[in-house]
This record gives sequence, C-alpha cells and structure tokens, in this order.
Amino acid sequence: MKIPFLDLGAAYRELQAEIDTAVARVLSSGYYIGGPEVEAFEGEFATYCGASHAVGVANGLDALHLALRAMDVGPGDEVVVPSNTYIATWLAVSQCGATPIPVEPDVYTRNIDPARIEAALTPRTKVILPVHLYGQPADMEPILAIARKHGLCVLEDAAQAHGARYKGKRLGAHGDAVAWSFYPGKNLGAMGDGGAVTTNDARLADRIGVLRNYGSRAKYVNEVKGYNSRLDPVQAAILRVKLTHLDDWNARRTSLAARYQQGLSGSSLTLPHVPDWAEPAWHLYVVQHHKREVMQKELADAGIGTLIHYPIPPHLQTAYADLGYGRGSFPISEKIHKEVLSLPIGPTMSLSQAEQVIDAVRSAIGKH
Ligand SMILES: *Cc1c(COP(=O)(O)O)cnc(C)c1O
Repeated sequence: MKIPFLDLGAAYRELQAEIDTAVARVLSSGYYIGGPEVEAFEGEFATYCGASHAVGVANGLDALHLALRAMDVGPGDEVVVPSNTYIATWLAVSQCGATPIPVEPDVYTRNIDPARIEAALTPRTKVILPVHLYGQPADMEPILAIARKHGLCVLEDAAQAHGARYKGKRLGAHGDAVAWSFYPGKNLGAMGDGGAVTTNDARLADRIGVLRNYGSRAKYVNEVKGYNSRLDPVQAAILRVKLTHLDDWNARRTSLAARYQQGLSGSSLTLPHVPDWAEPAWHLYVVQHHKREVMQKELADAGIGTLIHYPIPPHLQTAYADLGYGRGSFPISEKIHKEVLSLPIGPTMSLSQAEQVIDAVRSAIGKH
C-alpha cells in the first residue's frame, strides 16, 4: 500500500460539501476582487492568531515583501535572515533592494540561533526576520530583546507554522508583523495561492493594505507606487472553511509526530528537538541521517513518499551567486541540507500508516 507524502485530494474530499458551498457562494455573490469574504476571513484569521489585524495578500512571498516595504526596508538596508530556510525568505528582502544577512541555526531546533544574531548586526540592519521552520516556533524572546535593544523591527515568517504556539501563545503577533502563506500544502492551505500579514500595529496594517492594492485607498487615487497583490475571494471563502478545522487537523499532525518520535527513538536518526516552550504545528516531520539519499530511495521502493526541505541552501543557489558565499560559508546549514529528509505527515494520514513508515525507516537504516 502506497503512502503519499501528503494527500491534498483526500483533504479536499473530507471537507468537500463545505468547500463547494463556500465557493458557490462567492461565484453567485458578484464580488470577485476583495469584498465580504476577504474581510470576513481577515477578521477570523486575526482573531485566531491573537492579532488585531490581518491583511490578505496574493501569496506568502508577497506577505513578506509587502511587510518589509511597510517597515521602510529599501536599497542599502540589511535584514537578518536564517541561513537555513526556504529561499522565499531571502527573496522578499532582495525584492526590496535590501541585502539578506544570513545567520546560522541552532543545531537542535534548526531555527535561527539567537546567540549568533548580534554579531550579524551593522548600522544598516533594519529588520530581524526569523522563520518558524517546519512548523517549529523560533525562540522569539531573545530575538525580541535584541531587536528592542538595537531599535530594529521583527518580521516573522510563519508560512509553515499556522497554529503553532510559543510559550503558550499562538504565533501571530509576537514580532511587529507576521507573514503567512496559504500555499495548498501548508497547514492552512488554499486551493491556489494566498497569503496574509498579521500584526498589532495599525499603521503597518494600513500601509500593507494600501501597498497590496496599487498604492491606493480610494479608487484611482494612488498615494504610493504599490502592487497588485490581493487575496482572492474564492480562496478566502475556502480558507474560512479550513480555518474552522485547523486545530483538529494540527492535532492529527501532532499525534503522527508523537508516534514518529516514539517509534524512531533510539535509532541512528536525528529526530526533531522540541524545546519545552514550543508547541509545533508539525508542518513537516524532518529527520536527519548521513545516509539520507539511500534512505529516501529505499522508502520510495517501499511506496513511501518523502521530500527534502531543502536540498540546496539559499546561499549556494545560483540566484545568490552575487553575494559571493561559497561552500563552507554556513556549515551548520549545509550539513542540515545534506542530511534532512521529511517523512509523510498530514491531516488525512492514519496512525497505522505512520507505523508502516516507522517499520520501513527502521529497516532502511538497519541496513546502513
Ligand atoms: C511557503 C513558504 C513561503 C512562501 O509562500 P508562497 O505562498 O509560496 O509564496 C515563504 N517562506 C516559507 C518558510 C515557506 O515555507
């Protein structure tokens, strides 16, 4: 029996009646840009995140980019980013004409290491941009303390962490603003592209709201050179349905992760490390092994889908050749990228499927 990495079709079928009704409601409403569904979703998502504002945008990259623009990041500025992240985090900085300054992760949490941030600051630093990678919250308290001490903004990339909690409080407003993606495979996923920024800062929310809509507040009056980056109302309606199931679906991910943690402990794998202040959203269940490639192949032969998040770190991508980093510039990230393997996890996966994965993984590493 095959086990896919993530079965989005099965997730749709579980909510099909609700989703189809929501989509039909938008199609017959006559509102195809903005309108009541987008506003309702923004309100509901802000409440869920414990933030006073949510601003819907077209995707997660735009959420990061527009939030940085609203923080006045531009050419000559520097933004501290994790060396271990998806490239979108860096690209948002580059889109502002600013420079991403990578900081290595903690080897256990694989998130940005707060103890290394101060050494990366210069008079040009404007923002610290931690990522809650794999759904594991980054250690926000020391990051916020550094930001306060140096007068910097904090933008969180929570594209993989919908519903995760840091010290008991849901992500959504620990920093000055939080960027979200609703890419279909995320914990809160649309059926197309989508994104949002949450914040407690009314001024930031207002600026992002203007930037996403051609720099305009009133039709045909343009205050700034803005963008077209709006959250689609069909996606907003789908997201409203899925938001009501998010905690339930995250709980299923948590059970699967617990089963993995238990079933794979004592093996030669490095398992995710969860600090006691973290309640992860388990977007990904990422193990590390020096024989990652053979493991992936053997699991594929057993019909088990796995993915690598990510095979090449941003600093070694051709896209960032201009920054001049070579192999060995960020060794902790490079080792992570060489060793990580993401096991199947998702809302429609069963615990017995997790058992099958555990058996297959144990058999694969037993041979090497
Ligand atoms: C998915 C993701 C993004 C980008 O989201 P899109 O909606 O695909 O633009 C940004 N950062 C991280 C960490 C992501 O995983």
